[in-house]
Amino acid sequence: MHTIRPEQAIVLFNGNDLNNWRTREGGAAGWIVEDGIMTVEKGTGDIVTQETFRDFQLHIEFRIPDMPDATGQAKGNSGVYIQGRYEIQVLDSYGLHIPGQGDCGGVYDMHAPLLNACKPAMEWQSYDIVFRAPRFDQAGREIHDHARITLIQNGMVVQNNVQVTGPTGGAIDHNVDDPGPLLLQDHGDLVSYRNIWVMELPLVGSDTYESR
Ligand code: MG
Repeated sequence: MHTIRPEQAIVLFNGNDLNNWRTREGGAAGWIVEDGIMTVEKGTGDIVTQETFRDFQLHIEFRIPDMPDATGQAKGNSGVYIQGRYEIQVLDSYGLHIPGQGDCGGVYDMHAPLLNACKPAMEWQSYDIVFRAPRFDQAGREIHDHARITLIQNGMVVQNNVQVTGPTGGAIDHNVDDPGPLLLQDHGDLVSYRNIWVMELPLVGSDTYESR
């Protein structure tokens, strides 16, 4: 699917530098930027946006390297962590008949993709993500509506408004009532990313009706 970037969207990667990004610890992001794409630089760690978000619509494109001798979780692994807390898996799962909770398009270890929308290694793929942050009661603590994720992979719905009851493994924190950054995972494989933008969403729409 070719999603057009809305004018009000925030560009998170401009193709030239990683000034909008940092390491988990706050240092300079060490991934390679070349020809408008960024690629995991093995061992430099996850990268995290400087900005944080609550509800949003996100577009991101990724390319998995060809690793014919690798299998399972060692085959082109990376990840798109919503708010730094909820991992949408990036993995070479092309051709699997029944992808599982750890496969590409899965909310890691929680929700398997509804279908296998993966393209082969070395082809560019897209994720369009709609995220609704968890909501709390008046006391401020107790969740009355969990986080919700809708994921469209390469134009196909693979997560349909699923409820996510808590952070996945490797989350930056468990402060689920705080806004969080976008995090991209260094899992040791040379996965590339490009064309990343986010559009923040208001938490509620208007309750008035304007006539004209
Ligand atoms: Mg991963």
